[in-house]
Amino acid sequence: MTKNILSMVRENIRSLKPYSSARHEFKGKASIFLDANENPFGSPIGEFNRYPDPLQWQLKFELARIKGVPAENIFIGNGSDEVIDLVYRIFCDPSKDNVIVCPPTYGMYEVSGHINDVAVKKIKLTKDYQLNTAQILEAADENTKLLFICSPNNPTGNSMKRADILELLQKFNGIVVIDEAYINYSQEKTFIAELLNFSNLIVMQTLSKAWGLAALRLGICFASLDIIDLFNKVKPPYNINQSSQELGLKALQNVNLVNDWIKTSIRERELLKNELLRFSFVVRVNESDANFLLVKCEDADSLYNYLTAQEIVVRNRSKEPGCENCLRITVGTAEDNQTLIKILNQYDGK
Ligand SMILES: *Cc1c(COP(=O)(O)O)cnc(C)c1O
Repeated sequence: MTKNILSMVRENIRSLKPYSSARHEFKGKASIFLDANENPFGSPIGEFNRYPDPLQWQLKFELARIKGVPAENIFIGNGSDEVIDLVYRIFCDPSKDNVIVCPPTYGMYEVSGHINDVAVKKIKLTKDYQLNTAQILEAADENTKLLFICSPNNPTGNSMKRADILELLQKFNGIVVIDEAYINYSQEKTFIAELLNFSNLIVMQTLSKAWGLAALRLGICFASLDIIDLFNKVKPPYNINQSSQELGLKALQNVNLVNDWIKTSIRERELLKNELLRFSFVVRVNESDANFLLVKCEDADSLYNYLTAQEIVVRNRSKEPGCENCLRITVGTAEDNQTLIKILNQYDGK
């Protein structure tokens, strides 16, 4: 199935003539670079005086190898947040278009909508935190440009049913953004392979979680050549700085280490879940395909304050729709988790 993606793009973006940087315009071999007003002497701290590769090809080739996707189908953003913002700016006309999000979910989809003056329709997940496909399709109108699906979902932890996502990919007449920030911890398959079947699909991943590179700000997105082309036109010319490119590339040589961490996190997640379920104040622990657990307790605020006093920070999600009295707890190292359990034992004894 192919949908005409270009017809969904904002008029001004469709006709945009992008900025052409010095690094873009000259592609040949040269020994003297006098084209970009860079400092010819160097930098005080290493080789940072030249502008970085605007399209981060080395990093993309390495990601392509690991993910089994052509490098041309990859876009790298300054964190996933940049990818989310770009999707809005490419497809949504401010104060005219709208998008659909499915709370409880990642807050940036909505905030980015408000920043871009795009209306955000909220179709809540079902009681068991699954997509409400019928309501989503009913809520979509001719100005609904984007549908954000987070799977595994933050903060609930569970994956969305594959059949539901596939149905939405077929029936939703707009761009479907699937955020797979936690896919490395999941039993479910990535939707990257579905890019060949759905031209309206954008898959987001990140190096911030399983890869341990949150500080470098490397968000990844996989999409059709048409969509990647739009991203490249709209992004700031040098959106990924040189040190992030270099360090990201270096980190990607360590697949085995990362895979070991993932296995450990999954094992620790299941251990922590079982331990938590033994406490009288824990009502429920949602099944998780991610590196955190959503824990429903008798009094989330009280537990949150208790943990904070013991210098343990978790995320209080109890104000989120469908998350009353829920704390989101990241799975730590075995030692972190044991300390948490010890401190929770004391809380239970009170
Ligand atoms: C952590 C997280 C991200 C990652 O964001 P970055 O900007 O790449 O660090 C993206 N989506 C969700 C749902 C997340 O929880």
